[in-house]
Amino acid sequence: MRYIIACIDNDVEILDELYNKLSRIVDSDYIIESYINAEQALIGCFNNIIAGNEILITINGNNNSTLRYDDFLLELYKNSPSTKNIIFKDVVRSDALEKIINEASIYKIIPRTLKKVDFELMVLEAIKLNAQERRLKEYQRVLETAVDKRTKELNNINVKLNILATTDSLTGVKNRRSFFESGTPMISFNRREKKSLTTLMIDIDKFKLINDNYGHKIGDEILKLMAQTTQGLLRKSDVFGRLGGEEFAAILPNTSIRGAKKVAEHIRSEIEALEYCSTNKKRVKFTVSIGVSVLSSNESDLNSLLHKADLALYEAKRNGRNRIEVYTEDIDNE
Ligand code: GH3
Ligand code: MG
Ligand code: MG
Repeated sequence: MRYIIACIDNDVEILDELYNKLSRIVDSDYIIESYINAEQALIGCFNNIIAGNEILITINGNNNSTLRYDDFLLELYKNSPSTKNIIFKDVVRSDALEKIINEASIYKIIPRTLKKVDFELMVLEAIKLNAQERRLKEYQRVLETAVDKRTKELNNINVKLNILATTDSLTGVKNRRSFFESGTPMISFNRREKKSLTTLMIDIDKFKLINDNYGHKIGDEILKLMAQTTQGLLRKSDVFGRLGGEEFAAILPNTSIRGAKKVAEHIRSEIEALEYCSTNKKRVKFTVSIGVSVLSSNESDLNSLLHKADLALYEAKRNGRNRIEVYTEDIDNE
């Protein structure tokens, strides 16, 4: 990027004089351009902006083109608001001056008689000011990039924390807390809407034996397989989670007892058909028992509904395992 100092005057001698004065005080990073009127200057400035150069300073002397200084500076301001515009006192009328002050920018208005040393100091000051503004902009940009990056990182961390807080780390399904968080509002909603809702309590049969016979690690793998298989057999609107150990539960909204029995039977038979094969070629088969309960009109909370499913589950265990049972009041009275 090059920095442009644009000098405008219809007197070539004045332009030469300006050039000589300026070239003594600036180095090769700065280009001093001379224009014989504002129209030429505007074309030159735009070409520079397009080329990626920065219009640092304009020095506005006599102008005999149809493009007046107020219009020139307004147009320039739209494309280069940080340009420091220095104007000789005698070249703009007061109404034009007002317009420039209000709608564009003026850095200094100077008399023709300004001493050489003061002129040089003023230009150097404008260059310094521009450099400060550039550094500030760059600093802001760096800061904004850093803040953006940090915000993204924090969002990612929050997403990860949320997953960690709601997911059972072994099986990847909902943990107990998240299961209740998702399930509790479903109960009141389904009651209000008078829709049937059922729950399943699912427990792996003789899981202790699996651990004892094949080791805890394979036990863990069986838990994962069971959880993922069951999750895959449920609908997106169902809530499924691990309540603890080898015990899982599901909430099936908009599902009648008949529908829930079908779903439970499907889960039971699919799991019965599975065969886990370990890396050292150990094959393990396992089964689950499932208790089913349905939301009744006098039911108000998820815990009591799950308790009923749990009672039905133990009935299934008592009746030989690898089977499903639906909660009835008879079970409760046993
Ligand atoms: P039942 O058919 O009556 O349900 O018998 P069970 O052996 O499955 O039930 P029990 O409650 O006696 O045993 C559950 C076992 O589950 C005991 C416990 O060590 C095991 N277990 C609980 N959590 C985990 C786990 O995260 N990983 C593994 N590998 N085993 C677990
Ligand atoms: Mg068990
Ligand atoms: Mg159990």
